Amino acid sequence: MKVGNRMTLYIVIGLILGIAVGSILSPMADQGWVQWIDQYIFNVIGQLFLNMIFMMVVPIVFISIVLGVYNVGDPKTLGSLGIKTLGFYLVTTSIAITIAMTLANILDPGVGQSDLLDSEEVSEYRTSELEGGETGQAIEQTVDQTIINIIPTNVLNAMATDNMLQVIAFAVFIGIAMISVKDKVGGLVKLFEQANEVVMWIVMAIMKYFAAIGAFGLVATAFTQAGFDAIQQLGMYFICVLLALFIHMAIVYGSMVQFMAKKSFVWFIKNFAPAMGVAFSTSSSSAVLPISLETAQKNLKVRKGISSFVQPLGATINMDGTAIMQGVATVFIAQLSGVDLTIMQMVTVVIIATVASIGTAGVPGVGLVMLAMVLTAVGLDPAAIGIIIGIDRLLDMTRTMTNITGDAAIAVVLDHQQDVKEERQAAKNGGAKA
Ligand code: ASP
Repeated sequence: MKVGNRMTLYIVIGLILGIAVGSILSPMADQGWVQWIDQYIFNVIGQLFLNMIFMMVVPIVFISIVLGVYNVGDPKTLGSLGIKTLGFYLVTTSIAITIAMTLANILDPGVGQSDLLDSEEVSEYRTSELEGGETGQAIEQTVDQTIINIIPTNVLNAMATDNMLQVIAFAVFIGIAMISVKDKVGGLVKLFEQANEVVMWIVMAIMKYFAAIGAFGLVATAFTQAGFDAIQQLGMYFICVLLALFIHMAIVYGSMVQFMAKKSFVWFIKNFAPAMGVAFSTSSSSAVLPISLETAQKNLKVRKGISSFVQPLGATINMDGTAIMQGVATVFIAQLSGVDLTIMQMVTVVIIATVASIGTAGVPGVGLVMLAMVLTAVGLDPAAIGIIIGIDRLLDMTRTMTNITGDAAIAVVLDHQQDVKEERQAAKNGGAKA
């Protein structure tokens, strides 16, 4: 079953209605009846949908990576696929932050707004998040620990805590082992293939019956609580992030799909739209993973072996949209603080933002946690995050959409490269026979 046009249309209608209803209710957000509707209707609908797709993430990631690795067939090809994937992730993320910082330096979103630094939100963020909350602990997580943590000590624990990178690592081990003992595990391969059918069926059913209404609920609640006044005050920052996201998608992903995969970018967007819509509503690359895998495999025709390896990995370690927000936010906060970032500091931002995204699950708002690390690394006050936190949810929606679109674009490119390789191989074999 393909994720068809009708499904896309319903999701888009759900999103538009959610935005409209949420925006209408937003100015009355402090009234009791609006809070009631928000809590018991929008939020319940949205969270039910979110839970349903989250429920599928671990089984899908595990099953599809095992099968993906097994289908690639030999560890050497897998190694080269892995290196290419990481290479693409690194390069696109670096380009993303560079675009973001350049644009922020041109548009100057923080110039002349230094009074924002004295706002209540900054001191609130300092006491609630930096001194006690999870952000404080996350900042302390060092690069070496991030690398060590890729390998789980307890697989069930990794699955129970949704630690995607660890689940991926374990699945890769199982897949490689299955290749190595191929002759003895026919039954197990069948079992994984059948399990894959079952989980994919559930994802399609969730998409068919709940995606549109779920997207409506999530977007309606986000827009009801959006705080449009705050957006007005931070308008330039908001526009700058959106513009950078748009430029990155259109130019970087556009040329990758067009020139490296030889496919039309319009075709790509049209076919990947259902996943983008769900990413927008959920603000979570991890949650949308079951749907982005399904959409890439069925609509974009990316082979399973590539899609199921590239996309789950991308959902945790490739976050171009998040990097863009971090790039703009760093320049914005530097401008508020009257600090001129040196080239070296900007390079540090690129490196830290890229590294920070490795091992950080794609869940709502996590980009801000990473931003604290980036700001600390360049000597800026991480409590300044308090200024942008109020409007972050809306940007999170858009950057999550960018994050997963990047993963899919890379999957399409690698799939095309594999086509070319196979065609060449076939021509060579044909030639040899003749
Ligand atoms: N919500 C984003 C994602 O899941 C991460 C972030 O930027 O906060 O991809």
